[in-house]
Amino acid sequence: MTDDAELVVAGAGLNGLLLAVACAGAGLSVAVVDPQDPAAMLDQGFDGRTSAIAYGSQRVLAGIGLWPAVAAEAEPILEIRVADDNSPFFLHYDHRDLGMGGEPAPPLGYIVENRVLRRALLARARALPTLRLLAGRRIDAVEADAGGAVARLDDGEERRCRLVAAADGQDSPLRRGAQIRAVAWRYKQTSIVTTVAHARPHAGIAVEHFLPAGPFAILPMRANRSSIVWTEQADLAPAILALPEAEFAAELKARFGNFLGPLEPVGPRWSYPLSLLLAERYVARRLALVGEAAHVIHPIAGQGLNIGIRDIAALAELIVDRRRLGRDIGDDELLARYQRWRRTDALVLAAVTDGLNRLFSNTLAPLQLARDLGLAAVNRLPPAKRLLMRHAMGLFGELPRLANGEPL
Ligand SMILES: Cc1cc2nc3c(=O)[nH]c(=O)nc-3n(C[C@H](O)[C@H](O)[C@H](O)COP(=O)(O)OP(=O)(O)OC[C@H]3O[C@@H](n4cnc5c(N)ncnc54)[C@H](O)[C@@H]3O)c2cc1C
Repeated sequence: MTDDAELVVAGAGLNGLLLAVACAGAGLSVAVVDPQDPAAMLDQGFDGRTSAIAYGSQRVLAGIGLWPAVAAEAEPILEIRVADDNSPFFLHYDHRDLGMGGEPAPPLGYIVENRVLRRALLARARALPTLRLLAGRRIDAVEADAGGAVARLDDGEERRCRLVAAADGQDSPLRRGAQIRAVAWRYKQTSIVTTVAHARPHAGIAVEHFLPAGPFAILPMRANRSSIVWTEQADLAPAILALPEAEFAAELKARFGNFLGPLEPVGPRWSYPLSLLLAERYVARRLALVGEAAHVIHPIAGQGLNIGIRDIAALAELIVDRRRLGRDIGDDELLARYQRWRRTDALVLAAVTDGLNRLFSNTLAPLQLARDLGLAAVNRLPPAKRLLMRHAMGLFGELPRLANGEPL
């Protein structure tokens, strides 16, 4: 029996679309299935988040031809300032501290609205002749054997392929269907996301204040605006979200401070319950998990999507190389290699972000002193600081070609 596509992707979220576009751009036939309507996914009301795109992730987007459609709306991050509540100690990253062999130092990353990323991905997906977007349908089951895989859709249709990628989000029906267990818990925190306009320019500086209820991040956007990721106790968040405009603005200003002059919230308020999830395996027969189907981490360091982008750069590289050799892109050897390559990244970042969140969401005086001294020490140790900066920029470990700025 012939295949309907070489690769079937479950989920047209940011990770699923990115994998589909990377592989179809290299000539593979790809089908992407998602129950949601793509037009609704571009609606202003769909997702209020912005993403901190690390420098390494920006290179992946550039390598698959997406960056030109995003660049004009991406704000470079030139500095990051981390402060513990009202403590005078803070950690300061400046992109100019990163010597890049005489080259002008690149930004540490970029802030991009998820809506802008989605729009660029959908436009590219529609332009690629070997990519089919099957919207309004979900994958109910995957059956696989040595000869290939069959993805069964909820309308009874079947799609034969070599490999299925589960990019179906944190509740991943495909991960459950493959009986892959996951370590998972809910944080007693919710992130409130909104946008503010301020009088003074932010100069490309991202700020993170660690407050007792959780981190309060101020992320630079275009046109004197900043995106706010305000993490609160989960049981208090609904009341904050329901506050009248003036009271909400007052609570926000109390946390923001006045370093950017007068400010006002603009646009809607969003909320995201926070959780951690790590799949025990990333693969099953002819199935690879990517993005939040495989890992969900606390947004304290703005790294969740960046790990997903590295999954995709690695998986696309393995698939494209194998295909060039005329070999099966869904075989066990490729999948084992993918899992070996990718699991540690999420494991390390899950542990680091969970640890940071526990350490900083705590008002015990000795602990506060210890972490302030820690921040100050790192700030005064250039080698340690440079190492942490390279981590935040997604430039560590065995990098996929795309993240190194090389073509797929
Ligand atoms: C407050 C907050 C701030 C964040 N900020 C950052 C940041 O600054 N930087 C960063 O790197 N990351 C950040 N993240 C993380 C990032 O937003 C996520 O990692 C990313 O959006 C996950 O995308 P995804 O494609 O894996 O999953 P999803 O967006 O959940 O997409 C999954 C898709 O699968 C579809 N689906 C479900 N079931 C099926 C099925 N059976 N068949 C087919 N399709 C199916 C769904 O309809 C959905 O479209 C943040 C997260 C939060 C909560």
